[in-house]
Amino acid sequence: MIIKKDKKYWLYIAPHVYCNIKDSNALLYNTVNGDNMIVTNPDFIDILKALHEKKNLGAICIDGVKLAQSPCYEFIVEFCEKKMGNINDVSEEPEKPVQMMPILNLQRDVNRFQDDMGREVGEDVLQYLLELNLYLNDSCELNCIHCDTYSKQASCCIKKSSKQNNILQISVLKNILLQIKYGVVGKLNLIGGNVLKYPYYNELSTLFSDFSSRVHIWNHYANFTNSINIFSDFKYDIITTFPINNSVWDNCYKLLRNYNHCYHFYITGINDYTLVDDLIEKFFINNYVIHPVYIKTNHDFFVKNVFTDPKDILQETFSMRNIFAHQKLNTNFFGSLTIISSGDVYANINRPALGNIVNNSILELIKSELIINTAWRKIRDVEPCSNCIYQYLCPSPSNYEIILDKSNLCCIR
Ligand code: SF4
Ligand code: SF4
Repeated sequence: MIIKKDKKYWLYIAPHVYCNIKDSNALLYNTVNGDNMIVTNPDFIDILKALHEKKNLGAICIDGVKLAQSPCYEFIVEFCEKKMGNINDVSEEPEKPVQMMPILNLQRDVNRFQDDMGREVGEDVLQYLLELNLYLNDSCELNCIHCDTYSKQASCCIKKSSKQNNILQISVLKNILLQIKYGVVGKLNLIGGNVLKYPYYNELSTLFSDFSSRVHIWNHYANFTNSINIFSDFKYDIITTFPINNSVWDNCYKLLRNYNHCYHFYITGINDYTLVDDLIEKFFINNYVIHPVYIKTNHDFFVKNVFTDPKDILQETFSMRNIFAHQKLNTNFFGSLTIISSGDVYANINRPALGNIVNNSILELIKSELIINTAWRKIRDVEPCSNCIYQYLCPSPSNYEIILDKSNLCCIR
């Protein structure tokens, strides 16, 4: 690249480049080709700040004498090679290359709804409900070692330790279905306890026959003992905890192999992972999810296998839409409600309940969550994430942060 010292240049940044400046560091991320630059030189950070000043519209004029000098020259070469932007000779192209810089301007931003006294969070908020988890009962005769923690970290069954068990009454279930009939719930999960022991289990197939999306039945593999309760209308999410009882697992495998299903493995260490690997290979399992479970004694396993690091983050390609989503909502929790068998309703099971389905409509509960924000809009806006250049590239905060009582899931700070 030839830069003439006696000339002036327009330097512009492409609209598809995301830039996050934090004190003495900045990240430039090209959302088209996934390339990135970590910038630490204060002069270059000043240039980036100038490019992002509203009045400059993504383009500034710089003297060739400045651009041609090392290390600015190397910075500009890398900037242009990675297609972060470009330079134009002002004498050849006098017109400023104005860039339409993307700005976050969500019309339906809830904070603005609240600020605007004349408007209220609208009736159409039902469209935000994308996933509904219904805990139909909370009794189970199995005794998995970490029963009390699985469901706090991932979708999983849970049983109540006291003798007073709850069931979600069929009338309540019917009422919920009526309320979501005109919504867009794309995934409905029915969970227990042992959901096959729900007193109205045999009515579920008829009850959900008009429901437009797939209904998922979640249950532990050891609770599938015969084919009587297995219906082809449902998808079966098979919970596998460790240690595994091989003959019981084999039985479940045979019962469900011809039905729509997905295996969920809840692992606490590398030994569990090896067993999962063996099962996948032996039974040709294609449809499965591995859920690492934090149990205090496996901190090192988590640091090594679950914690994120910049290399992992930058390996993925993010669209500007992804990055903007991370700035406004929690992509893990947004759109999901959980109703437990007592009727209490949560946006996240680890946070306070929003209300009870017997007393509150789903619409009211969604409105509450949009305003109170127990989970749906929890973003990386607290330290150390708020001071980190990867802030909105990093996945939204998850249940792991809550369980580990940390706001970041990395070793960066
Ligand atoms: S099957 Fe589920 S509810 Fe039953 S003990 Fe295991 S984790 Fe708990
Ligand atoms: S978890 Fe927070 S501190 Fe760690 S890399 Fe992500 S944004 Fe940065």
